[in-house]
Parts: sequence; structure tokens; C-alpha cells
Amino acid sequence: MAETTAWLEAGTAYFAGRLAGADLDHDSALPGWTRRHVVAHVAANARALGRLVHWARTGDETPMYASRRARDDEIEELAKLAPAALTELAGRTAAELRDALAALPAPRWQARVRTAQGREVPATEIVWMRCREVWIHGVDLATGGTYDDFPPAMVDALLTDVTGLWERDGDPAGLTLAPDDRDTVWRAGSGAAEVRGSAAELAAWVTGRGPAPHGAPEIGRWL
Ligand code: ZN
Repeated sequence: MAETTAWLEAGTAYFAGRLAGADLDHDSALPGWTRRHVVAHVAANARALGRLVHWARTGDETPMYASRRARDDEIEELAKLAPAALTELAGRTAAELRDALAALPAPRWQARVRTAQGREVPATEIVWMRCREVWIHGVDLATGGTYDDFPPAMVDALLTDVTGLWERDGDPAGLTLAPDDRDTVWRAGSGAAEVRGSAAELAAWVTGRGPAPHGAPEIGRWL
């Protein structure tokens, strides 16, 4: 938990750093989204996760988003803000979420909340969810960031997260991720097909942000 919180702090700074001075009207790395949309989404995500913190603290069921449509509409609206206002909003919402997390009483960290995908998780997961958002969308801004910038242990956590997701969804491919720069491997399903590359390359690929290593299947975008 302390490690995840440190990744979150560093990731929040990373996102702000990748954003600083960027032309927001430029395309992002995400299809159909300018950088404006990425910033709007990251700001809206901070608020949405803030609703999960509220839920954990009070037991009052406040979901991340009213609906997928409401989520998308909010991104479109916020993306119209003037660049300075949008950047300010991203910073302010990140700080508000940090304060809300810091104020969550210890026993409430095990309270169950529900992700936008409908999965029940303890409140501790909120920190990790936000971690993924700020780091990965920091790369999506397309201002020079790559997965090589991520803390190595967080790259490993991403590989664990995605292979766990494949397991839960009954991944038919049955892959073993065998990073050249790690002593560990990550298996899903039968693990029959081994995929090699650096851990950062594999993490980019499994989250739909990087090319498939030789012989590996394409993976859809995640988050
Ligand atoms: Zn996202």
C-alpha cells in the first residue's frame, strides 16, 4: 500500500510533467482523442474515484459514473475548456483525490466499492486504479513519455494485473509473458505461448499501447 501510494504520487507528478507546455489541441496517442480529451478524462477520473472514496468512507453508494454515456459526455464537455482552465482542473482534482485518500480512516480501506467495470474491490484498489490512469495516460499524451519511465515494480504490477484479468475472463490465448529483463514470468491460462521482450515493452503491449512482440497476438486497448 505504501509502495502503491508512492507510485501514485510520482505518477501524478509524471502526468503533470508530460502535460506542462503541451499543445492541448494536438492529437493524443489514443484514437479519436486530442490531448484535451486525455486531460479531461484524467480530471473526471479523479472525481469519479473520489466518489468511490466517499462510498468507502460513508457506506453511501456513490458509483464512479452514472452511466458510460454520462462518463463520455463529461469528457466531451470538459475538453472544451480553455487550456489553462483544463490544466488547472487536472491539478486541482488530483489534489482533491489525494486529500480524500489521505483522510480515509484505516478501517475503511477494506470497505467494498465497485469499479466502473462492475467489479467489487476493497478501497485499497482505488490507489492502484488511479496509479494506472496517471502513468498510462501520461504516455497517451504523446509528449515523449514511454513505459520505460515507469517504476520497474509498477511495470511488474501491471503485468500481474493484466494477466489476472485474462485469468478471470478465461483468456483463451494462454500466454506466458517472459520479460528478458526479469527473473519472473507471468502466466495466464495454459501459458502455452511464450512472449518475450523487455518488461516495459510487454506492459505497453498488454495494455494496448505498444506493438505486439514477434509472434504475439494484438491486444485491445485497456483503460
Ligand atoms: Zn483512463
